[in-house]
Amino acid sequence: MAGPPKPDPKKAVAGKKPAEHTAEQEDVEQVLFQGPLFGRESNLKANTKLVQAALVPVKQMMSDALSRRAHTLLMEPREGRLSIRFVIDGMPYPAAAVPGQKGVAMLQMLKLLAGLDPNDRKLPQAGGIKAEFDGLPYNLMVESVPAGGGAERVRVKIENKKVVRQKPSEIGLPDHLKTKIRDFTSSRSGVVLICGPPDSGVTTLAIVTLHSVDPYLYSVYNLADMKGKELINVTEFKPEPGHDMELTFDRILRREADVIYLNPLTSPQDAQTIFQYADRLSFIMEIPANTPTEAVKKLIEWVGVDEVIKGLKCVITQKLIRKLCDDCKQAFRPNPMLLKKLGLPPETSVLYRAPLPPPPDDPKAQTVEELCADCDGVPYHGRVAAFEMLEMTDTMKEVFAAGAAPEAIRKQMADDGQTTLQKDAIRLVAEGKTSLEEVQRTFSPGGPQRKAPPRPRPPGN
Ligand SMILES: [Zn+2]
Repeated sequence: MAGPPKPDPKKAVAGKKPAEHTAEQEDVEQVLFQGPLFGRESNLKANTKLVQAALVPVKQMMSDALSRRAHTLLMEPREGRLSIRFVIDGMPYPAAAVPGQKGVAMLQMLKLLAGLDPNDRKLPQAGGIKAEFDGLPYNLMVESVPAGGGAERVRVKIENKKVVRQKPSEIGLPDHLKTKIRDFTSSRSGVVLICGPPDSGVTTLAIVTLHSVDPYLYSVYNLADMKGKELINVTEFKPEPGHDMELTFDRILRREADVIYLNPLTSPQDAQTIFQYADRLSFIMEIPANTPTEAVKKLIEWVGVDEVIKGLKCVITQKLIRKLCDDCKQAFRPNPMLLKKLGLPPETSVLYRAPLPPPPDDPKAQTVEELCADCDGVPYHGRVAAFEMLEMTDTMKEVFAAGAAPEAIRKQMADDGQTTLQKDAIRLVAEGKTSLEEVQRTFSPGGPQRKAPPRPRPPGN
């Protein structure tokens, strides 16, 4: 497998002095900063020195990150320099290392642009910048955390406001899972939960689950705070002031609602109310848990095992796996042993893998970046999801009644032939969307999911 892409000298301009790249600036699209989010203000006039020193490099760094499809930008002090990394499709790549003073100025500039206090390095701060790049609107969510010794780390999450994937087909939800979601929400009863680790696209999956319900057959109501996102074919329902969850559900029942979408489930009280109504309404919501078995454990603590057996329909999760670049992936004929090991049909004639990197000792060979213009030789581009659905079959109910041990749940899922992350990842390999190596990397212990730094909450959350 090819290593991470080397920083492209044309792209990685964040660490250079402005005078050195005037000519390059013209052909690199520049980001437009359009002010802080969350009603904050940023006083650029009162910070002219900082603006002079750091606005241009910050602009270049963000433009570079956006042009390389980064979804996160990490800035942290390392050996007296500010190390800048771009996270692309879940993989961090070094982008630049900026000398100390300039690095500090860049951190401060980002905070200033987000309407935060650039000089406060003792407390975690969170805000955002409204931005435009290449004609598309973005929200740049800026979080700063103290890193000891007066230093700090900044993380920028890049949200493309236009890309709201909502349809099952858009995230590649297989038809058989969509059919199951339809079944589980067709009887005006039962709870469907969605979970996953942070940054695994849980909310997108929850919205897709909701959109799997047939809007022409069922009336679907939304009670969740969508933070400005729009739900299609779903009726917005505002609770009356002073009404608790029970009164709200009673009101919504009188409107003959079938399916209700709720805010993430975070308290035992809410869980108990929801399960009380789960014989008359169908609910879809997130639950903060890394895995379905963890979600189930939490739920049993909150409402008791009998209620869970009675009311829960399924728990869904997903894992994002890097997609092989369509322009440079290589087909190969898998041997029968491999197919057997993977549980794939013996007639499978072709799988795909990353192209071999050029021989390092051949001076005439192309560099990995030259091999493919589409992926810069990575050779992955974008991500696809593998799914898992823990279903409450009759046999699974028995496992729950017997104590719901995670190993017993996993075994029952396998015995029932339920869709698990590992099994569904092999489907992605069989479909040529990713490689076996990438699946193995994603599932290896301590794999790509790094522990995220502590995150301060943005205002209004
Ligand atoms: Zn490629």
